[in-house]
Amino acid sequence: MSTLTELYEEIAGCQRCILAQSRKNPVPGEGPQNAQVLFIGEGPGFHEDQQGRPFVGAAGHFLEELLAEIGLTREDVYICNVIKCRPPQNRDPLPEEIEACKPFLDRQIEIISPQMVVTLGRFSMERYFPGAKISQVHGQPRKIGGIIYYPMYHPAAALHQPKWRQVVQDDMSRIPQVLSQADRIADVELPQDAEQLSLF
Ligand code: URA
Repeated sequence: MSTLTELYEEIAGCQRCILAQSRKNPVPGEGPQNAQVLFIGEGPGFHEDQQGRPFVGAAGHFLEELLAEIGLTREDVYICNVIKCRPPQNRDPLPEEIEACKPFLDRQIEIISPQMVVTLGRFSMERYFPGAKISQVHGQPRKIGGIIYYPMYHPAAALHQPKWRQVVQDDMSRIPQVLSQADRIADVELPQDAEQLSLF
């Protein structure tokens, strides 16, 4: 099993997709290797690309506020993104870019081995709940392969749409309770498609 440092070096040299050409810095992710909770956002924006660190802009400040409400700081958790390089003009990541970056995210989760993975926004949700609607599944934990996956709206959505703010705060506020009841949540099969998802 590789270490995070080795993984970060690989990401730094990655040329697997076109985003490598326009990035200033790759943004592999950061946080302690033994983090209990791992957050997955979408992809780096302007500030993240400048600094090579995830969630350091406005959405990041809001994420820090949300973490503070449950007694955590960003140093307590692991934070990364579905894609590690900024798309030009912050456009949505393309399927081939997500696919190219998938092995990095998979290895991050394998190395950190968190109790809980919190997906922020639809791109990270889609990885674990294909075909799901975020409006229907947000705030509902699912245990897959021993890890709890917990979809939330992206903090940036709450910044753009004040009506999501309370929803995001409420979902975040339930994380300690979900963690404390982790053992009691039953494992489910990874859904293969939207049809199976409706079984939950
Ligand atoms: N939004 C994301 O999804 N990721 C970041 O790192 C910053 C903003």
